[in-house]
Amino acid sequence: MANTALYPWLQSAFDHLDALRRDDRIPGALLIQGGEGLGKRSLALHLAARLLCLAPKDPLPCGVCHGCHLFKAGTHPDLKILEPEEAGKMIKVDQVRKVIQDLSLMSLYDGYRVIVIHPADQMNQNAANALLKTLEEPAPKNLIILVTHRPQRLLPTIRSRCQTLSIARPQKDIALAFIKEHKDVSAAERLWSCAEGSPLRALEMAEKGLLEVRDQRFEAFSQVLKGQEDPVAMAQTWAEESPFETLDWVLSWLLDLVRLGLSDEAPELLNEDLGEALKDLIQGLDVIELIHYRDAVSGYRAQLETTANRQLIFEAVLIGLAALGKSQRAAQGLKVTAI
Ligand SMILES: [Zn+2]
Repeated sequence: MANTALYPWLQSAFDHLDALRRDDRIPGALLIQGGEGLGKRSLALHLAARLLCLAPKDPLPCGVCHGCHLFKAGTHPDLKILEPEEAGKMIKVDQVRKVIQDLSLMSLYDGYRVIVIHPADQMNQNAANALLKTLEEPAPKNLIILVTHRPQRLLPTIRSRCQTLSIARPQKDIALAFIKEHKDVSAAERLWSCAEGSPLRALEMAEKGLLEVRDQRFEAFSQVLKGQEDPVAMAQTWAEESPFETLDWVLSWLLDLVRLGLSDEAPELLNEDLGEALKDLIQGLDVIELIHYRDAVSGYRAQLETTANRQLIFEAVLIGLAALGKSQRAAQGLKVTAI
């Protein structure tokens, strides 16, 4: 069954959408954007459930009518969820065409027809162009909901045809209360910080044991930078286990290092829990080199989503990191450890 949970921090966004519905001002295309792990997709489905219910108990769907039954079974003919066939892959043009074709048929219940596209930024160029035609000629009572945490990757022509709803991260107390309600209370604060304030991401991290993996990665990151670990050997582990998370962590550590390098006072850090260790690492690092290196790692992060060889990507990342440390040690006139 589709997750339609209306998380506490989404209530005001849903109230806004519900007000549009009451005023008959639901747009033809809605773009729900905001960070990962905020429940954007479940908000889209919550709205869909309400629109497809035949006997709503406002503002909620009734849960018992035929429409609600079909929705819960995932077989409602007027709801299409367009997602990559495999996680991390692109949404293909054929998938978009099929859904649009279905949409052009009459609604079974003379009500709304809803398409949820998630993650919308995973549409390839042809898929996006196929969708664009439909967005240009919106039909009444058709709603296309695009959900993404990377709206900048959408075609500007697509973005401009959508009404945008931005979901902000919840305040810390709300997020922490949610994490504590569902997971280990003692680790809540650290989970919150590592998930950059996204409550659902924090729960996922706890479930997958990602806090421990992150600790291991940071240890290895520090060692490679200090010339105490072989970057090529490390690349294999990184490529095999949690590669996407790993590079996201590396990027956020690098960003914190840049902040520390540029600021005389104590800057706000993404990785508060690693503050002391990061302060130690920044000593002697050249900020300009660090910024160039971070740009390169951003490029490798993008490559990770292609068919490029992961082992080679991580070798490039880690060899670059080792080189950064080497030039630091050379500049300090210390003995450069051969790696
Ligand atoms: Zn219902």
